[in-house]
Amino acid sequence: MIPYGCHDIQESDIDAVVDVLKNEFLTQGTQVPAFEQALCDYTGAKYAVAANSGTSALHIACLAAEVGTGDWVWTSPNSFAASANCALYCGARVDFVDIDPDTRNMSTSALEEKIEHAKKQGTLPKAIVVVHFAGSSCDMKAISELTNPYGIVLIEDAAHALGGRDAQDNKVGKCTYTDMTVLSFHPVKSITSAEGGAVTTNSERFRQKLKLFSSHGITRDPAMLNTSDAQQSWFYAQLELGYNYRLSDLHAVLGKSQLQRLDEYIAARRERAKKYDQALPSLPIKKPLVDDNSAWHLYTIELTEHSRQYVFDTLRKNGVGVNVHYIPIHLHPYYQNLGFRKGQFTNAETYYDRALSLPLYPTLSKTDQQHVITQLEQVLS
Ligand SMILES: *Cc1c(COP(=O)(O)O)cnc(C)c1O
Repeated sequence: MIPYGCHDIQESDIDAVVDVLKNEFLTQGTQVPAFEQALCDYTGAKYAVAANSGTSALHIACLAAEVGTGDWVWTSPNSFAASANCALYCGARVDFVDIDPDTRNMSTSALEEKIEHAKKQGTLPKAIVVVHFAGSSCDMKAISELTNPYGIVLIEDAAHALGGRDAQDNKVGKCTYTDMTVLSFHPVKSITSAEGGAVTTNSERFRQKLKLFSSHGITRDPAMLNTSDAQQSWFYAQLELGYNYRLSDLHAVLGKSQLQRLDEYIAARRERAKKYDQALPSLPIKKPLVDDNSAWHLYTIELTEHSRQYVFDTLRKNGVGVNVHYIPIHLHPYYQNLGFRKGQFTNAETYYDRALSLPLYPTLSKTDQQHVITQLEQVLS
């Protein structure tokens, strides 16, 4: 079966990890700060704080934004559940902003309407988690112009988008218009550290909080401790209720090694996305918008005439590992129990009913991609 996504591990990655295994530190050594610096160098952000998953990175981003009980957090329904769960972890309430049917990202006009409505109701959100679906950046400039007047914290969920750029050609992760950007290094994403994540930011205040929450809420930094005890060299203090969300040095060195090939990976993804775009002109499908700045995490088509169940099963039977991204978050039983209902975010629901992700990853061979194209043509003919 040709998978929908696949990581790439090379000898240099293996050597880097083995090197750390032979060193003094498996965790809390030099590799995490080095990976964080490499992420800053790549994205252009001032700071990066590593975490042991994209999900924990989303959690500490919400905590750093001071999301808590009674607050609202908004996100896109067309995402992985973690984009919304992070707000619930903090005791906040979640709501969704429907997507644009063409970009499949949070609709800027729906957001504008929702802000107007919430302003009247006094229910403006503390933070918005904006998801760059499939690796294509949302219009963060326009979104920030809508949210800035109200001091809403903007968190980019860029789990799909590392290596991509926004419409103004800024690197994703630079936080040009936003407070924080969350990255994931799960094996299907742009680069992998096995499990891992990070938050980038240009704010020293957010950096400090992210660091605290990722490591028990404990610090040894005398500048953060207004007590004379801080002069004692053994002293540390817990300032917040934090977690152990630290990335290990083994994971960090793998991520750092992979980061060196990120641009090659994105170029390879783009090339394969372009191939699909050119090879599938006359089929009864809706293709993703062409976005040369996308990181092309996914290539997702919509079936405009055929039954998704039939096409999915037939392709799977013929060795094509198609997938579906995403079941709208508000349709999961857990969210239904919170009171969400089918029919609330219809663009995301209609898109979901027809969506099919084709295999796309940097090492997808020409032969395998041709097999995907031939099989798709056959099942739709
Ligand atoms: C993968 C993913 C996450 C979670 O990242 P993990 O590293 O798997 O915890 C969050 N949001 C989106 C959109 C994702 O695709």
